[in-house]
Amino acid sequence: MRKPVIAGNWKMYKLLSEAVDTAVALKPLVANANHCEVIIAPVFTALKTVADRVEGSNIKVASQNCAAQNDFGAHTGEIAPVMIKDAGCSHAIIGHSERRQFYGDTDESVNKKAHAAIAAGLVAIVCVGEHLSERESGNANSVVAGQLNTGLAGLTVADMERIIIAYEPVWAIGTGKTATPEQAQEMHSHIRQTVAASHGNEVADAVRILYGGSVKPDNIATLMSQPDVDGALVGGASLEADSFASIVNYK
Ligand code: PEP
Repeated sequence: MRKPVIAGNWKMYKLLSEAVDTAVALKPLVANANHCEVIIAPVFTALKTVADRVEGSNIKVASQNCAAQNDFGAHTGEIAPVMIKDAGCSHAIIGHSERRQFYGDTDESVNKKAHAAIAAGLVAIVCVGEHLSERESGNANSVVAGQLNTGLAGLTVADMERIIIAYEPVWAIGTGKTATPEQAQEMHSHIRQTVAASHGNEVADAVRILYGGSVKPDNIATLMSQPDVDGALVGGASLEADSFASIVNYK
């Protein structure tokens, strides 16, 4: 049985006090959400304070990125997964499409970051997804399979227990356009088959696959009713505690 995961990506929003206020407001609203794991991903500068404030609750904290190495050294501006763990996080989002589009993340760097995150004891939320032109030209499946095959290369069966996959079609992120539940299901099933081919059926059956792209309180339930949709990575609608809590409490 795959336990659903509802994760909120706060992107580059919220000063420290605002991040703390949102996290504190969220705590009672999701306190009874035993049906899923609840994760929030504030900016780096808020990670430690937010993690301290939600300690002991059912809210876990993720970073939105991480470095590809854990060794301390000359990597100005980078933050090692081991430091993210040290700040109280349990998860790291890796390869979000905004990082791929604007900050140089590639399938190869995603792979290095996933290895480093797992070595530090984090769970890596690895994002994949096609652009609109790739979907329209009929290449969505091969694009996503390529992202997975390179992004998850070299990970062992044991490592895969620390991987969550987030399918985020780029055309649906922050646009208000959501993939239909059928489109999400079709791609999630393709993702599971791709993981089965690379890591075996048991890993594929166990791995959680989240959908991301304009998830809102009014579309989460239909998305979650699809057999291969195991949760959501939520951007805009995770910024307000009430709206994110309604998504978490979709049942
Ligand atoms: C995201 O940032 O991962 C995302 C899915 O954003 P939104 O929900 O705003 O489309």
